[in-house]
Amino acid sequence: MPSPKGPPELKHLDHVLVTPAAIKRRIAGLGVQLNHDYASKDMMVVAIVNGALIFAADLLRQLSSPLRLDCLRASSYHDGTKATHEPRIVDQMKLDVRGQHVLLVDDILDTGKTLAAVAGLVRSKGAASVRTCVLLDKKGRRQVPFEADYVGFDIPNEFVVGYGLDFNERYRNLPCIGVLKPKYYAG
Ligand code: 5GP
Ligand code: MG
Repeated sequence: MPSPKGPPELKHLDHVLVTPAAIKRRIAGLGVQLNHDYASKDMMVVAIVNGALIFAADLLRQLSSPLRLDCLRASSYHDGTKATHEPRIVDQMKLDVRGQHVLLVDDILDTGKTLAAVAGLVRSKGAASVRTCVLLDKKGRRQVPFEADYVGFDIPNEFVVGYGLDFNERYRNLPCIGVLKPKYYAG
């Protein structure tokens, strides 16, 4: 039986930045805002996986429109906490975005390069509108001018894990957003 206190990797955290309760409350708030803004629009959600998987799953269940969902996979982090190359779209969408009101959903806005590239791609494919919703925003790290339309939390410039975000593909299953103890980033 899993521990009711959560996965054992919780012990690897140095500190928690966003608790599960705060995430839940904020996603409910984003849902209210999105339901209002997309009330009269045919909505298509495009989640950027793997990072946005858990956020998108919880956010979608707050949305009341008969939306369509697709995913695309972008990759820039191949090595620990450093982006080792420009963002690449390594797995394309399946649905046609022409004429659609697209909401891009991602885990975190950091340098801005990934969402700028994906938003440009979706626009070039003929979407009627493109907006972005991110759970986390590290505003101090931007390298290209890009702002999200919907932001869960502004966070400081620290490499975070949990709730979909990984370090070397681990820690995505943590229920909170936190910062690892330095020895786990080193190893
Ligand atoms: P950007 O292109 O905005 O620099 O980065 C976007 C992607 O980098 C995010 O979707 C996420 O996958 C990854 N990333 C940026 N900052 C962090 C972080 O603090 N923690 C984790 N786990 N991934 C991050
Ligand atoms: Mg990502």
